[in-house]
Amino acid sequence: QSMDNDYFKERAVDVKDVRQRVLVHLLGLPYRDPSEIDQEVVVIAHDLTPSDTAQLNRKFVKGFVTNVGGRTSHSAIMARSLEIPAVVGTKNVLESVQNGDTIVLDGFSGEVFLNPAKEVIEKFTQKQKDFEEKKRLWATLRDKPSMSKDNVHVELAANIGSPDDLESVLKNGAEGIGLYRTEFLYMNNSALPTEHEQYEAYKAVLEAMKDKRVVIRTLDIGGDKKLPYLPIPKEDNPFLGYRALRLCLEEKEIFKTQLRALLRASVHGNLHIMFPMVATLAELRDAKLLLEESKEELYREGVEFSDVKVGIMIEIPAAAILADQFAKQVDFFSIGTNDLIQYSFAADRMNPKVAYLYQPYNPSLLRLVKMVIDASHKEGIWTGMCGEMAGDRIASPILLGLGLDEYSMSASSILPTRELFAKIKQSDMKKMAEACLQMSSNEEVEAFVKKTLQGV
Ligand code: PEP
Ligand code: MG
Repeated sequence: QSMDNDYFKERAVDVKDVRQRVLVHLLGLPYRDPSEIDQEVVVIAHDLTPSDTAQLNRKFVKGFVTNVGGRTSHSAIMARSLEIPAVVGTKNVLESVQNGDTIVLDGFSGEVFLNPAKEVIEKFTQKQKDFEEKKRLWATLRDKPSMSKDNVHVELAANIGSPDDLESVLKNGAEGIGLYRTEFLYMNNSALPTEHEQYEAYKAVLEAMKDKRVVIRTLDIGGDKKLPYLPIPKEDNPFLGYRALRLCLEEKEIFKTQLRALLRASVHGNLHIMFPMVATLAELRDAKLLLEESKEELYREGVEFSDVKVGIMIEIPAAAILADQFAKQVDFFSIGTNDLIQYSFAADRMNPKVAYLYQPYNPSLLRLVKMVIDASHKEGIWTGMCGEMAGDRIASPILLGLGLDEYSMSASSILPTRELFAKIKQSDMKKMAEACLQMSSNEEVEAFVKKTLQGV
């Protein structure tokens, strides 16, 4: 790893991989590379890393259940985009299951049944059939715009992790890409992706989306996303540590390679560049300076690029509170509620013990979201949301009432949300949201929204 020659340096990963396999055999552990699974199974694991999850083959992996993790851990998010049913954070499933057991799992309700009775199997087989029927109905909405019942248009966009997700994005009628998590391009590689490799990936996404808006987020590594070839010193609190933009501002060459690739790709579509984990105006200033430097380099080299829009994720409370000042410096905001909730409630998004603090409907969080939306509108810019909350059936009507402009979610949530929005009026949701802001708990808001939307 400390060799000067890049080629040999990168081989360290291969040596580590062999070491891992040898150890597994010596210890007699049932090691399996998740990508090698070639028969229909439900995977049971203590944990699945995001890159393990990315390798699962949907054809064979019918679902997975893990001991740890939360609704917004990246393996759960990946499962949603791969449309693999998953239940995470069960604490002890691994200890309760034997190889060969029959399992029913329901990713919607979070239920898991081990060796279920015939009636349970029948009930869930029916539920599965009903869901397939619903999917056929949703498919008819694919080319329709997303309109509320009182004709307010909002944008329903998709979150992606790689150009491989585009098929599902187009199938589900996304009106744009609201978040391309580029770190998966780095994670699925054995070395840093080159400028050209990155350019090709970004170009593929921009071309597929034609003139639709594509928001590409710069590298957000750290937290639960690791790069085997870029060791980050072990930290006690990785989610509060050296990740995302913090790392990119230190590792300037890595960052600039990405910025150059993005700029070069910008001629192929409607590119919006987004910086993650911005806490201070100084970080934003530094990131923008590096973008300007990259533009100057390309200009000097005679390489073409287009005018790109620049935005930030609002996922740290400090940035949300200062949104009025940030709004003067950027073209758009996208609220990352997965992190904004974990930081607002001081609850690790991976830890099942504090999973109850994932409270997207809590008025404290809703007020923060409202502040950000209002601050952006005052400066004439738009606000989107790309955290899991944007595709949530209770949260999205409230967000419609709060005036959120863009909703970015797993592709599979787009059509159900389009169907829901067509049945509700923004004017009604505005009143509902105002009432929610005055309530005092997550549960109170949830019950109120369910009651208000009864029958929808
Ligand atoms: C978020 O924090 O809400 C977000 C969309 O980013 P990620 O889940 O990748 O941290
Ligand atoms: Mg985030």
